[in-house]
Amino acid sequence: QPRLTLFDLPLDVITLPATLDRLGEWMFRAPRAPHTVVTLNPEFIVQSRTHPEFVQAIQEADLVTADGVGIVWAARQLHGREVPRAPGYDIVKGLMERHGADLRVFFLGAKPGVAEQAAQNAVRDYGIQVAGVHHGYFDLPEDRRVAELVGSSQAHLVLTGMGAGRQETFNQYWRQVLGAPVIIGCGGVIDVFAG
Ligand code: UDP
Repeated sequence: QPRLTLFDLPLDVITLPATLDRLGEWMFRAPRAPHTVVTLNPEFIVQSRTHPEFVQAIQEADLVTADGVGIVWAARQLHGREVPRAPGYDIVKGLMERHGADLRVFFLGAKPGVAEQAAQNAVRDYGIQVAGVHHGYFDLPEDRRVAELVGSSQAHLVLTGMGAGRQETFNQYWRQVLGAPVIIGCGGVIDVFAG
């Protein structure tokens, strides 16, 4: 699909249904290789100005979608293009609805106990399989241990909700160890699933 550039950052012009198709192919049809997904919002643009590693993580992501209207507006102003929204919450919910029991999900992020609750609710509502859960409050020296825990879980989908920048740089740096065919930075989505 076409790719625009917004302040040095890539933005894919892709609808929510097309995003779900693409991620479904990565998880279930293509050879199993890790892919990262960024859902871009204006906060990322501001924050990445002063964090080159955040810029790099977004530039190297396999798919960058417009999380909300702020990005849609920016693309319209800068490129005169209408970019559809594919917000993180809608992507995650859409994948769970489509794939249900075929989908193994790792919930990584939020405060202790929240990922467990999110996983329970997702099992109840969509019948997904839970590959594992881990809170999002660990320091850099623990990154490898957590990434290896995820990597050994056989997840199709890794949801990383650890705050803007932290989640994207973690996902990109550890993608080979995480190993899952779809790894998505999803901000507060784990909190939303926890209800
Ligand atoms: N979070 C986390 N570890 C951190 C900071 C935040 O797991 O070190 C979680 C937080 O609990 C929430 C999610 O990341 O579930 C998004 O946090 P917040 O809205 O503060 O971050 P933003 O996306 O606005 O940067």
